[in-house]
Amino acid sequence: MESLTIKRNILLNPGPATTTDTVKMAQVVPDICPREQDFAKLMKGLRSDLLKVVHAPADQYTSVLFCGSGTINIDICINSLVPEGKKILVVNNGAYNTRAVEVCQMYHIPHINLQSSVFEQPDLAAVEQTLKENPDVAVVYCCHHETGTGVLNPIREIGALAHQYGAIFITDTTSTLGMIPLDVVNDNVDFCMASAQKGLMAMSGLSFIIGREDIIKASQHYPTRSYYCNLYLQYEYFEKTGEMHFTPPVQTIYATIQALKEYFAEGETAKFARHRRVYEAIHQGLDALGFQTVIDRRIESGLVVSVKYPDDPNWSFEQIHDYCYERGFTIYPGKISTTNTFRLCALGAIDVKDIEDFFVVLKEALNHYHIKLVYHA
Ligand SMILES: *Cc1c(COP(=O)(O)O)cnc(C)c1O
Repeated sequence: MESLTIKRNILLNPGPATTTDTVKMAQVVPDICPREQDFAKLMKGLRSDLLKVVHAPADQYTSVLFCGSGTINIDICINSLVPEGKKILVVNNGAYNTRAVEVCQMYHIPHINLQSSVFEQPDLAAVEQTLKENPDVAVVYCCHHETGTGVLNPIREIGALAHQYGAIFITDTTSTLGMIPLDVVNDNVDFCMASAQKGLMAMSGLSFIIGREDIIKASQHYPTRSYYCNLYLQYEYFEKTGEMHFTPPVQTIYATIQALKEYFAEGETAKFARHRRVYEAIHQGLDALGFQTVIDRRIESGLVVSVKYPDDPNWSFEQIHDYCYERGFTIYPGKISTTNTFRLCALGAIDVKDIEDFFVVLKEALNHYHIKLVYHA
């Protein structure tokens, strides 16, 4: 197919991420009704490739696709997987775990919100104590990577505690899947989730949950709290027909299939290393200009850096954003209520050279607005 010339933007926001032209072009295909067998075949391959990304054994795990942004997965997992008379424990150290708590509240699902500092990893002893005191907890939930701060959570340890106390473990891997290697069996993960536009570097509109098939089957007897967003219903429909219950995001599925081809071609280890060197380049660039960051690097995911606003009165995030945006680089506001921050992320089809180019532009922007990188204690 004839390729269009598409302007390349460098997205340093936490997803949707910069995509390759081949993924963009994969969406330009002949029209097809998604109820055709040809389309069901595509989704079958996609579902099994998703299992491979997280090393999920196909005889124990399955993947279920949904049309929606990543939050739909949080909604579905929580509303579908809490049995009658049981509770969910949300290990909460940030905005995305708080979103899970809000889902519990919306559905009136009994839950424990074990809240801790957004600047730190959760305290495993507190998780264990809570599980000891609450034998009715059937589900433990924790985000793998709190995208709002950049803190990586110890999911393997939290998953082990969940299992030790007879609960299942759900983790939101939306901002790590396809970037930080995940092995669901070794990492004690019963359910994980992501959307196509983050780690897989495809387009927005397709989300998926990867989880234990026996638990999904058992969940048909759990209270149903949603019609459109029920995990068992969607799973059962896929098993019976190979199709999504309702209209799938057709073009996004083509893009995701191409993105997965490129994922396996690049390889898990090489891709992880690329994101890591992009992250290191972000820190180097920030250090060189004199910016301060807020999270201890030892607990950072290596995918998101939260940067403190300098105290210079000339600083305006909006002005800096616009200056960079006009030159093809997108930076993103922070998500920490107590500190003014912005975020630079290492997602997407980018490499060190893109970050170096970005810092040339950022430096120009700082000079243009006469901003000094001063921080008062
Ligand atoms: C991006 C993201 C989501 C989903 O957000 P949407 O705006 O619905 O795409 C969920 N969890 C985490 C950790 C994320 O980073």
